[in-house]
Amino acid sequence: MSDKFKVVVAGAGPGGCIFARDLAKAGIDVTVYEKGEYETIGHDWSDAMERSALAETGFDAPFEGLLNTGPLVKIKDSTGNVTGIYEQHAYPYMEVWAPDYSSRKIVNFRYVTTDRRTLGKLLVDQARQTGAKVLFRHEVLDLILGGGSRLGNVEVKGIVVKDIETGETKSVQADIVADDTGFNAVLRTKLPETTGIARKFSSDEFAMVYRTVRKRDKNPIDPVNDHYRYGYNTGYQWIQYLNEDEIDTGAGVRHDPKNPDPKDIVKEFISRHPSISGEVVRGGGGLCLVGRSPASLVAKGFVVIGDAASQTIPMTGCGAGGAMVGGKYAAEAVLAAAQNGKTGCDALWEYNFKWFAGSKRGANYAGLTALRNILQDLTHEEISFLFRQDILNNEMLTNSINGIFTMPDLLTMVKTLVGGITRPAILLKLNAATTAGTKIFKHYMAYPGRWDANLFESWRLKADKLFAATVK
Ligand SMILES: Cc1cc2nc3c(=O)[nH]c(=O)nc-3n(C[C@H](O)[C@H](O)[C@H](O)COP(=O)(O)OP(=O)(O)OC[C@H]3O[C@@H](n4cnc5c(N)ncnc54)[C@H](O)[C@@H]3O)c2cc1C
Repeated sequence: MSDKFKVVVAGAGPGGCIFARDLAKAGIDVTVYEKGEYETIGHDWSDAMERSALAETGFDAPFEGLLNTGPLVKIKDSTGNVTGIYEQHAYPYMEVWAPDYSSRKIVNFRYVTTDRRTLGKLLVDQARQTGAKVLFRHEVLDLILGGGSRLGNVEVKGIVVKDIETGETKSVQADIVADDTGFNAVLRTKLPETTGIARKFSSDEFAMVYRTVRKRDKNPIDPVNDHYRYGYNTGYQWIQYLNEDEIDTGAGVRHDPKNPDPKDIVKEFISRHPSISGEVVRGGGGLCLVGRSPASLVAKGFVVIGDAASQTIPMTGCGAGGAMVGGKYAAEAVLAAAQNGKTGCDALWEYNFKWFAGSKRGANYAGLTALRNILQDLTHEEISFLFRQDILNNEMLTNSINGIFTMPDLLTMVKTLVGGITRPAILLKLNAATTAGTKIFKHYMAYPGRWDANLFESWRLKADKLFAATVK
């Protein structure tokens, strides 16, 4: 391996840290520039993380197979640690209720709750331990570009970075630049528009989310279980027990001024539950990306990871796991490119292919985005009807909440038809959503297996057309 190969990363989120960790471990010279500070990295609340993503990126994913029935038991992770990155309680099964609480499904919830500040620091530590440099209070301002303006001939040669302490700005040359700056995608959006991958996420590709960890009063007259309320106010609302003494509760709604503030939804929920104490342990909120990935996650000398690449589950906005897996796949492609001394689209294409088609993650997320686009206007009454008729059934909800697109089989279609016969308008909408989702899923599974400018362009245009048909 050439010891001159140099990689720079903008942002020390979960994706950037895994990317830097895996490259540094293989002997690549990696520097991460992060505008924030070590102490406040991540965010100050608990996140649901996909256990598969933790396992795929080298973490022990504990709690597999445990049921969340009965009294809350303090569960230790496999190292016997109750104060590590994982909250003590996990919930392999989750009650998912209709918006009007008229019926519920039991969903296999393949997540574990993590303390995101602890996890954030741990990921930075891991990257540093393998030899990556992580420089805090450094803001990446711009890309250094060369070449042409199309994907394939535009060349990313480095970044412009500002030291926030001194105000000094400098240019840093690199073989590969990685953008892990979150949903603002600070660097990707600085590529020429003619590359077809520089689009900023639009406002309807976000949800507004608020969550809080509260002390729990062990009040026997308020028996409230872990649950999600699906489709509530265009989003969802939940309560999860973290341990005997604490709960996590929150809500998310589509980003639209017509929707209520999720903080008010949470406040109203808490007001109905005397067991949730007024004592705030931590919490916060903000925008959560539920949008669509750019058609390519690579350009010459460039990769994009995490929220900047929309590696988030469209039904929940969970993106920490997707970012970590994206960081891993990107590192594998960059490592192979470095071994061949190359940095072009052809050398990095493996990352695109693995994300979109090889692992099916991108294809699943794209199919679910189509469902979300078409079904997000369903009313509470309509969603509750689908729950009661078992058209939205355990399997479908399990898959969509865990980021998997389900292609409807014949039996499901017949059951849907019979159950929904009295509501043809809903059936039509469902049919439009599953048809569009299936077409999009298949299109992503046919993602070009190698870099070819013409092949890619025609794939990208078809993807645009398929998605255009899913929005009003
Ligand atoms: C309220 C809320 C609840 C959420 N709940 C969950 C959940 O339960 N489960 C889940 O999986 N996900 C959840 N998410 C989403 C999750 O936080 C993101 O998907 C995930 O953090 C994305 O990781 P990332 O690697 O893209 O980087 P990010 O975490 O987005 O981090 C980007 C980093 O880049 C830095 N940065 C930005 N611009 C620059 C720049 N110009 N120069 C240098 N550094 C820069 C930032 O300071 C930041 O540290 C939630 C989000 C919100 C807002």
